[in-house]
Amino acid sequence: MTKNLYQPETLSVRAGSEMTEFGENSEALFLNSSFRFNSAAQAAARFGGSEPGNIYSRFTNPTVTMFQNKLAALEGAEQCVATSSGMSAILACVMALCSTGDHIVASRSIFGTSVQLFSNILARWGLQVTFVSLTNPADWQAALTAKTKLFFAETPSNPLTEVCDIQVLADIAHRAGAYLVVDNCFCTPAIQRPLALGADIIIHSATKYIDGQGRCLGGAVLGSKALMEPVYGFLRTAGVTMSAFNAWVFLKGLETLFIRMEAHARNAKALAIWLEAQAGVARVYYPGLASHPQHALAMQQQTNGGGIVSFEVKPKADQTQQQAAWALIDATRLISITANLGDAKSTITHPATTTHSRVTAEARLAAGISDGLVRIAVGLEHVDDLKADLSSLQNA
Ligand SMILES: *Cc1c(COP(=O)(O)O)cnc(C)c1O
Repeated sequence: MTKNLYQPETLSVRAGSEMTEFGENSEALFLNSSFRFNSAAQAAARFGGSEPGNIYSRFTNPTVTMFQNKLAALEGAEQCVATSSGMSAILACVMALCSTGDHIVASRSIFGTSVQLFSNILARWGLQVTFVSLTNPADWQAALTAKTKLFFAETPSNPLTEVCDIQVLADIAHRAGAYLVVDNCFCTPAIQRPLALGADIIIHSATKYIDGQGRCLGGAVLGSKALMEPVYGFLRTAGVTMSAFNAWVFLKGLETLFIRMEAHARNAKALAIWLEAQAGVARVYYPGLASHPQHALAMQQQTNGGGIVSFEVKPKADQTQQQAAWALIDATRLISITANLGDAKSTITHPATTTHSRVTAEARLAAGISDGLVRIAVGLEHVDDLKADLSSLQNA
């Protein structure tokens, strides 16, 4: 199927699909580790690269390839490299494009585990990382060194839904000969397409909205063929490959991505508006609200505000911030207490003691993540039932 002939919704249903001789209408799941050759000469040609084709599922697998091609079509990328998780997507990207002594400028408000990967693991291999404010381009400019290879941003960020101007950061990176990497996990291509806005590389945790129903772990790196070649080279050698089964689940997830993201965002906006009016809420963070500091920018870059809402719980007289947040979480009966997001089931989490607990208290506060902050990844239940589940917020 030619990429550009169809609307994105059509691509999400149709792009990437390949049919075997059996004519199946739903993509086949290839649960095999290796592929046969017709002859020794063909084996040699496949290994030598003179003949395209599958060799071994650590390198390529037809189900994984279909997933890669579908996601690439949706992001408008030349190539997609699927990985075993979102974290291994970030690892593969950095291992492929950086070497000892290189420098990365990253937003302070990225996924907690991404901070760990940069600060505690990659730092041991001589990679320098400077953390800066996501929303202040001057900080990114000032952090540049002669060794800066990558800018790494997440927009909207987790959990505060801060939004950066992708084109502005891309311009700063490009003038310095660096690449802008955007973790597009919160939006997915149904809401935001970072490559079209100037980014060079996209990271996905497919575990989240691409799956959409909390089943499988997976990730992806997307960009130009030239940039993805070393990423693929790292993957086939290091083995952070996506499993065929997970790719098959994600293929099904992508077919419903657009209608799901619209429904998540509709529910999230309604819940955010309701939260703003509750006596027990001090502040709401949602890019779709007019009160969000980067609302106008978010509405330029995104088709809607997405599905993640965070808010500060107002402590009662005898409570600390954390006690107030935990009391709210423990009072829920419907919403799942779990750190995952992007599920049909709404999830509620206390970032300071879960996803961001390994970040130092100082770094957490610098990123604006207080002990009273609660994040809800708004699911596909009726929003009235979600409001009822949070009804303790009605009293200050
Ligand atoms: C979950 C997440 C990741 C990591 O993905 P895994 O699939 O859990 O490894 C990276 N970035 C963001 C923004 C995430 O939410």
